[in-house]
Amino acid sequence: MNIAVMPGDGVGKEVVPEGLKVLKAASEKFGFKYTTKDFPHGAEHYLATGITLPEADLKELGSFDAILFGAVGADPRGNARIPQGLIETDILLKMRFELDQYINLRPTRLMPGVPTPLANIGPGDIDMIIVRENTEGLYCQNGGFLYKNTPHEVANQIEVTTRHGVERAIRYAFEYAKQYKRKKVTLVAKTNVLRYAHNLWMRAFEEVKKEYTGIETDYHHVDACTMYMVTKPKIYDVVVTTNMFGDIITDLGAAIQGGMGMAASGNLNPTRKYASMFEPVHGSAPDIAGKGYANPIATFLSVAMMLDFLNQPAAAAAINKACKDVVADKANHTRDLGGTASTSQVGDAVKKLVAS
Ligand code: ATP
Ligand code: MG
Repeated sequence: MNIAVMPGDGVGKEVVPEGLKVLKAASEKFGFKYTTKDFPHGAEHYLATGITLPEADLKELGSFDAILFGAVGADPRGNARIPQGLIETDILLKMRFELDQYINLRPTRLMPGVPTPLANIGPGDIDMIIVRENTEGLYCQNGGFLYKNTPHEVANQIEVTTRHGVERAIRYAFEYAKQYKRKKVTLVAKTNVLRYAHNLWMRAFEEVKKEYTGIETDYHHVDACTMYMVTKPKIYDVVVTTNMFGDIITDLGAAIQGGMGMAASGNLNPTRKYASMFEPVHGSAPDIAGKGYANPIATFLSVAMMLDFLNQPAAAAAINKACKDVVADKANHTRDLGGTASTSQVGDAVKKLVAS
């Protein structure tokens, strides 16, 4: 397998090398071969070269089997030369859209030993897979201004919802449930208010679910969902939702599973026409970058998702299990989890277990 590696900025540069360490240990243990190629893109690269992500590089990235991505983003202190959002939209969103990574898959699982801000909720209560539609909705930049900079200014931001886009996201959620023997798929939307776009979601959901008779289904409005994720997260198994709601509830998911340092994601092109991209949910975390104590677990879990996607389920399972065992011991907790372990210390511990 050929893997493009894009560490990006800030803590991305610290956690991705640890991820590669774990990947190497898994390949030695499970006997699969891989090659890597580094891509330097990110805010720092932009400041040095004026380049975000040229078409040729994007095309090359798309031809890999997978992309392992860290985080891109400028340190808001002292980077006035970078227009706001440029790096994120020109690199991250560009890859997601142009490589048609139409699923953003974010497992939300509370591991034993990891602190959660929720009272009376423990490991076993949180084990949900959020399937976020990744190419449509409110994130398409379809809209504009009228009477800009006047007192009568109007801004339109139009939610783009296509039958094709909605159906493939819903179908992916059911296929995931089938493959991983999950019991229930819940649609999360806002059908009572968004009566066109989310009516389409509902009709597509009703139709697709008929093809998956063994799987239970449910529907929640997004506002209720945020409440239940906090009060009784156990009711969720696989959740499928829109681009924006997925963005929001997965950050909530990250918080209840122990924080940004624990949350992994895959931006998937399930047709495999272009590369899928695997990344920790967190950003470049300029506030802690360079200190050597970023939590690398989210990156390891992302590497595991990547290997699972590339048909190495045993290696993926070994990394998942190693992460679980490592974080069960408080001595391996980085600062975000309340400990004092360093990034490389956690990396070494996971690597050792994967190799054993
Ligand atoms: P970006 O714009 O790049 O998304 P952000 O500030 O919105 O940046 P993050 O970079 O994800 O978001 O940071 C949010 C908070 O979570 C910060 O306080 C950061 O220190 C913390 N954080 C993020 N990633 C990690 C990590 N891997 N380990 C520990 N703490 C982290
Ligand atoms: Mg962020």
